[in-house]
Amino acid sequence: MAILLDGKKLAETMQAEIAAGAADFLRAHGRRPGLAAVLVGDNPASQVYVRNKRRACERAGLESWLHHLPATTSQAELLDLVARLNADPAVDGILVQLPLPKQISEGAIIRAVSPAKDVDGFGPESLGLLAAGHPRFLPCTPHGVQQLLVRNGVKVPGAHVVIVGRSIIVGKSLALVLLQKGPGADATVTVCHSRSRDIGAVTRQGDIVVVAIGQAKFLKADMVRPGAVVVDVGMNRLPDGKLAGDVDFEAVQEVASAITPVPGGVGPMTITMLLYNTLEAARGREAGR
Ligand code: NAP
Repeated sequence: MAILLDGKKLAETMQAEIAAGAADFLRAHGRRPGLAAVLVGDNPASQVYVRNKRRACERAGLESWLHHLPATTSQAELLDLVARLNADPAVDGILVQLPLPKQISEGAIIRAVSPAKDVDGFGPESLGLLAAGHPRFLPCTPHGVQQLLVRNGVKVPGAHVVIVGRSIIVGKSLALVLLQKGPGADATVTVCHSRSRDIGAVTRQGDIVVVAIGQAKFLKADMVRPGAVVVDVGMNRLPDGKLAGDVDFEAVQEVASAITPVPGGVGPMTITMLLYNTLEAARGREAGR
């Protein structure tokens, strides 16, 4: 039976570390690190995500502000708000919750966020620095996956990591994170996507398998090598209202050596790494980096 990689517990530990860092920052600079959250429209899932992120900020002693704009907001209006947040000295990190309404180009907004405040790590400068091997802000979900592995003693260097999914926010960025040189990385990485042939044959080669596709219970037990470590990024709402990951948890836990649950695995780590990046952004700005 696989051991559980408990993201909820690790998130609590890391958020306490961040709270200690934020308290030091307050003593040194007379202000708290600050995250500005921007929510456009009334998507219920987005509202929950933003509320959870702000609550976590408050618990860790970070300042947080919510800018809630109507669904009819134009791209120019949102760009204007982002410009004001870029210029606001109290704001260290800017989080624009996706998805945005149709009339707004997500790319245009992501590109408008100051690279020094890009705590989501999706902007071109953050991704370029990551690809070049000199990361500033790691994207939150990939960084959370890496921390879950490392802090649970899973050996990443030299391991074959098979990632299913190639989105910027998860799969492709995670590949870049685990390909870095250095501790917690140095992996051999394979990325699969919707056009890949015989995905089971590929995932069976993985020492570590990460699934991020948004399809409930996609990864079956026969797609996992006995003893592999399995990380489930997926969050899918089932017709009965329950939350399910992309992994067939009941069956795969019989084969894997370690596995993340859903909920309580990667999700809490994503929020934690957002707080981590906000504290790092605050330190960087005070140091003139
Ligand atoms: P996305 O942007 O829709 O990307 C999905 C990726 O999966 C694409 O690369 C797609 O391939 C690939 N894919 C889809 N169906 C596939 C299949 N049958 N076989 C192989 N590959 C397939 O999704 P995302 O934003 O990365 O999110 C993925 C899942 O993770 C969702 O359930 C989401 O809710 C969850 N998520 C969780 C967290 C967290 O904090 N826990 C954070 C972010 C996302 P193509 O590129 O070829 O289309």
